[in-house]
Amino acid sequence: MARLVRSFRKIIDSRLRHGPSPSQTRTYLTQSQRRKATTASVPKLSFPLIDHHYDAIVVGAGGAGLRAAVGLAESGLETACISKLFPTRSHTVAAQGGINAALGNMTEDDWRWHMHDTVKGSDWLGDQDAIHYMTREASKAVYELENYGMAFSRTSEGKIYQRALGGQSLKFGEGGQAYRTACAEDRTGHAMLHTLYGQSLKHKTNFFIEYFALDLLMVDGACAGVLCLSMEDGTLHRMFARNTVLATGGYGRAYFSCTSAHTSTGDGNAMVARAGLPNQDMEFVQFHPSGIYGAGVLITEGARGEGGYLLNGNGERFMERYAPTAKDLASRDVVSRSMNMEIKEGRGCGPEKDHIHLQLSHLPAEVIHERLPGIAETANIFSGIDITREPIPVLPTVHYCMGGIPTNYKGQVLSVAEDGKERIVDGLYAAGESACVSVHGANRLGANSLLDIVVFGRASALHIAENNEKGASHLKVPDDIGKESLGDLERIRTASGDIPSAKLRLDMQKAMQTDVAVFRTEDSLAAGNLAVQQVERDFADRLSVTDRSLIWNSDLIETLEMRNLLTCASQTAKSALARTESRGSHAREDFPERDDGTWMKHTLSWQKEGEDVRIGYRPVVMTTLDETECATVPPKKRSY
Ligand SMILES: Cc1cc2nc3c(=O)[nH]c(=O)nc-3n(C[C@H](O)[C@H](O)[C@H](O)COP(=O)(O)OP(=O)(O)OC[C@H]3O[C@@H](n4cnc5c(N)ncnc54)[C@H](O)[C@@H]3O)c2cc1C
Repeated sequence: MARLVRSFRKIIDSRLRHGPSPSQTRTYLTQSQRRKATTASVPKLSFPLIDHHYDAIVVGAGGAGLRAAVGLAESGLETACISKLFPTRSHTVAAQGGINAALGNMTEDDWRWHMHDTVKGSDWLGDQDAIHYMTREASKAVYELENYGMAFSRTSEGKIYQRALGGQSLKFGEGGQAYRTACAEDRTGHAMLHTLYGQSLKHKTNFFIEYFALDLLMVDGACAGVLCLSMEDGTLHRMFARNTVLATGGYGRAYFSCTSAHTSTGDGNAMVARAGLPNQDMEFVQFHPSGIYGAGVLITEGARGEGGYLLNGNGERFMERYAPTAKDLASRDVVSRSMNMEIKEGRGCGPEKDHIHLQLSHLPAEVIHERLPGIAETANIFSGIDITREPIPVLPTVHYCMGGIPTNYKGQVLSVAEDGKERIVDGLYAAGESACVSVHGANRLGANSLLDIVVFGRASALHIAENNEKGASHLKVPDDIGKESLGDLERIRTASGDIPSAKLRLDMQKAMQTDVAVFRTEDSLAAGNLAVQQVERDFADRLSVTDRSLIWNSDLIETLEMRNLLTCASQTAKSALARTESRGSHAREDFPERDDGTWMKHTLSWQKEGEDVRIGYRPVVMTTLDETECATVPPKKRSY
């Protein structure tokens, strides 16, 4: 017995020091994963590597990743889905309000009206071909989810119930409020994610769960797969595929107060940056009007859609002054800015006059019970109030990243060379919040993201399936592909400076929250850039990681995530400083007007490790897919 314990200790000690040998790790793979795996090692690095070959890989198992995986696996392609989280823990699970589609279940509706609202919501920075595609496909996407088994809320006639949400109108803005948001109470993302996970299992997706993708494996400008770390046993895996879909979610955690999960760390965006590819429109970060004061947890816009309204410290419904028609259901950038104006001018609520009240207590009990049960619970847990009696204290909170990896409406990743020529990156797709298609432009409308993730997750799968045969040959890659990334991992794992990554993360989050916030000026953005650059220097020179193992090393994983956030933060701050106009969520006090002549263009930002952010631009697509089916929405001044 003592001998057994001793030899067990020896194995554990050795794995804590070096990670396991390939033969030890084989036991952690399922039988089918093992059949496809081979081992390799990279000269001069002690890490054993396990190689896998699939037709397609999806990185991410939120709504976008799972919808892509379902489509790929269903088409017969051998598909791997890699996720750092168990799939149903992805941030999509937290989505409350719903998913937009002009089903016309509550009033007459038309997807062209939805298209108009989305272009207007985007403040004319959205690409109209992609918005055309998304709004036209929306009803199909919702019915497909219904057929997959998603439990939507129903009307008394048994149709899918649809609620009102911000920025949605009938008849191209002339017909009043639209009721376009299909939902499952206020737990729509939960219902969607569980449904899609069930479907992906049905179609035999190969899951690699709690695998952390470190970097893209690039060869001659094309993507050959990804390098991953299995967090459970510390093994390193090169996953090769002819096509890779990045669906890694947003980077809300670059800010101090946000509604997104702690795992929304922009990993895909930073992987793309390290591969020398650009991100797009990173300056556009959405603040949701109703994060719970202090906690940052979200209260869905659906609460206002069901009849709730905002009050200032004098008990006034102030939104009537800022958006006389849409009032509390104006788009998010408009409502968030109005709330901040009220607070700035001394009309906030509470002893510090530093927040706003969201009033729901006038709503009938059955509306709260049937349509907003999750909100009642959340408000009680995080601010201790009973929403049937008291208002909820709320504050605009970072919620969504409009920017991300540039793609066309088929999901293919785009790059722009130094000479300004645009090209498609062979073998690489992106979908969901990590991507910038761009359907949300400068400001996303509520319930358009759940739509975006399923429509473009599906579009990526369709395009890959149409253009690739099962078992097609892989790109030829050098034997030591991935060695830079392994070198980075080793450097970070053994970093022995004097500042822990948690402290560096806090410095970055505070800088972003203070200086790259709802209202921006040249001075605040310059200060924000300097502060983020200081964190970059500290990360390079003074980082300390205390846990040296590769097994369940949360210190190491959080440091890798922090490094990814830092790339997103610096691209956001730099792009925001460069854009000298106000558009959508990007509100410059020193440049309060939208300037279409100069700025109706997408920002591109590049940043290789250790280098400054480089900025470039590409034009907005102003034409639809087919002008006879759906006309371009011409730019005009935005009012609600
Ligand atoms: C609280 C909240 C409520 C919302 N409500 C709504 C709503 O009602 N309607 C709406 O339209 N939108 C809503 N949104 C926005 C919407 O939910 C998200 O934009 C969307 O769900 C993002 O989906 P995704 O698939 O792109 O990413 P996510 O769901 O965030 O999933 C990301 C996936 O990537 C994986 N991943 C990330 N990095 C790595 C890595 N390095 N290695 C391996 N795997 C990795 C994760 O494990 C995860 O599976 C809400 C957002 C929040 C935060």
